[in-house]
Amino acid sequence: MAVETVVGNGKNTRFWTDRWILSQSLEHALPHLFSSIATRARKKTVFDAFTSRSWISDIKGALTVPVLVEYLHLWELLSTVVLQPEVEDTHIWKFTTSGMYSTKSAYEALFVGSTHFNPWELIWKSWAPRKCKFFLWTVAHNRCWTADRLARRGLTHPPKCPLCDQVGETIDHLMVSCVFTRQIWYTILQSFGLQILAPQMEDSIFVDWWVAVNNRVAGQQEKKRGLIPSLFWELGQSGSIVIIVFLTVVLLA
Ligand SMILES: [Zn+2]
Repeated sequence: MAVETVVGNGKNTRFWTDRWILSQSLEHALPHLFSSIATRARKKTVFDAFTSRSWISDIKGALTVPVLVEYLHLWELLSTVVLQPEVEDTHIWKFTTSGMYSTKSAYEALFVGSTHFNPWELIWKSWAPRKCKFFLWTVAHNRCWTADRLARRGLTHPPKCPLCDQVGETIDHLMVSCVFTRQIWYTILQSFGLQILAPQMEDSIFVDWWVAVNNRVAGQQEKKRGLIPSLFWELGQSGSIVIIVFLTVVLLA
């Protein structure tokens, strides 16, 4: 886990799977108890788990001795916790001493454990601004707060993509398969005479499309290895209102 959490109101922290009360998640610290928790309740927030002590009623199945021992342990642990309604939860990035995200630390974190990501070279060796590169890293790892992710966390989310209002919003949809996005990519790439590279109907995964685009320009000058991230930069510089809108939509997604 790259993130440790300091709980405030508990509304943005998962009770069982985030690290907020021990040095590991409750899922890992109390495996017997966790295995007794109803599946639908395993993604509960700390706030929801505390509400009416619902974490207790979520315990299902046989109360074996290990489950009871862990239950008592958790009861004791929670007796020391007081949620603070006015304070947001704080998530701390553990790969820097400041606790703040940095591109460098995220890059280094790629090599912790067995993390392996094929197109990392496209991201980190490109000459796009670091902000763009980190954004693409979050896209590639499906870590953007699009509707599907918000839904998984039980948070408010738009029922359909706000751009096309046709299908559910995912990061891949926003980046390549939304009809609005495909038009934007076409317009962007056309200004470089590269419209042939624009995503097509069958392109549904951003990273796959991106890797394919880079393969198609392979052998050309080295800078083109960073084609897509650099477009974010070049077109952001061009002052095109369309691009600014697009970047805003994507970056805030
Ligand atoms: Zn759409």
